[in-house]
Amino acid sequence: MRVTIWGSRGSIASAGPETVRYGGNTACVQVSDGQGPVLLLDAGTGLRRAGVALEATEGAIHVLLTHLHMDHIQGLGFFPPLFQPGRELHLWGPPSTTLDLRGRLTRYLSPPLFPVRLRDVPSNVELHDVPAGGWLIGQLTIRAATIVHPGPTVGYRVERNGTSLAYLPDHEPALGGLAGLLDGEPTDEAEWTSGYDLAAGADLLLHDAQYTTDEYEERVGWGHSSVRHAVAFADLAGVRRVALFHHDPDHDDEALDRLMAEARSLARTAEVVPGCEDAVLEVD
Ligand SMILES: [Zn+2]
Ligand SMILES: [Zn+2]
Repeated sequence: MRVTIWGSRGSIASAGPETVRYGGNTACVQVSDGQGPVLLLDAGTGLRRAGVALEATEGAIHVLLTHLHMDHIQGLGFFPPLFQPGRELHLWGPPSTTLDLRGRLTRYLSPPLFPVRLRDVPSNVELHDVPAGGWLIGQLTIRAATIVHPGPTVGYRVERNGTSLAYLPDHEPALGGLAGLLDGEPTDEAEWTSGYDLAAGADLLLHDAQYTTDEYEERVGWGHSSVRHAVAFADLAGVRRVALFHHDPDHDDEALDRLMAEARSLARTAEVVPGCEDAVLEVD
């Protein structure tokens, strides 16, 4: 599988000369196996660039949303394939007990927030709640599971021919069992940690690394990880490589260089790679 990062930022786009290396667009990642339908994880502002690259292609496109915070859906209205007549588009997202996926997405894709209603676009859009078990998209096996983050939020695991990718861009495992493990409390088993099943043994994990350790202390419960927590989670789950991702909009390139160096010094077994916009990572 080939993983292309079209957007690596968290919370809000942060374009500017201070973010050119790590990128300013919000979360969007493409997974390709060179054969089947196009798979995109999240629809942040990076989705616009993915869509420009996909405009000349044919076939179905699947967009898998982890949750509906704006930094994960804002690119939808600016995704060129949405406006291609007859293009087959599938939007997958976490179920909610209060409003279905269409109802939640059309809060954004309708006036006054957006000029075009989702029901009026010329592409063939189908919406799906992610199923409880795994499912297939082409040759890719997909699994979704609820993880710790405000509101209904899932992470994803994508597998093909024994290789695996885990995608948990917004995740606070410290509140899901990890903090107890880091403090040496024997009460929490690794398997009970939020996100563990999705990430266990993955060849590549894209994980939330929004905060420094000090910033996290001020933001407990906001749904994100410190770099320390991201690396500890990667080691706990036994992943081969972790791409640190969903960078805080206030972290410029130099700050992120320092955080990557800190992450490498903390990692015990996982290889740390920077989750930069435009990075292409091979998973094999
Ligand atoms: Zn986010
Ligand atoms: Zn979020």
